[in-house]
Amino acid sequence: MAGEPQADCLFCKIVSGEVPATVVRETDTTVAFRDINPQAPTHVLVIPKAHHPDAASLAAAEPQVTADVLREAGAVAAEEKLDETGYRVVFNTGSGAGQTVFHAHAHVLGGRGLNWPPG
Ligand code: 5GP
Repeated sequence: MAGEPQADCLFCKIVSGEVPATVVRETDTTVAFRDINPQAPTHVLVIPKAHHPDAASLAAAEPQVTADVLREAGAVAAEEKLDETGYRVVFNTGSGAGQTVFHAHAHVLGGRGLNWPPG
């Protein structure tokens, strides 16, 4: 069922604590943790605790939780002082766009100059 934990999902295992992560923020509906392979000095992933495969599915099923994820992305940026220099929030969607974990997640990237357009 939509939103239920999936046994084979890495990020569901991070939510449950089965897989360890460096958690920087947590709410009733979200977890934010450092990316294991950072692409910038700050690279934090913000995920809903509920399992949805991508951002669009999350938004369709749980608009309030989608707002929670975006608010938490902003809170991470503020804690990391990225709001002074700028930062990027990215939802890779689909394998052609680089999505490798099919549990919705926002990348929060900053702490260095970020080129546009992205690769
Ligand atoms: P995607 O490629 O799906 O947009 O992003 C998935 C992200 O999850 C990647 O940036 C990858 O480095 C990160 N990642 C993959 N496995 C782990 C893990 O076990 N722990 C953490 N903290 N991040 C992971």
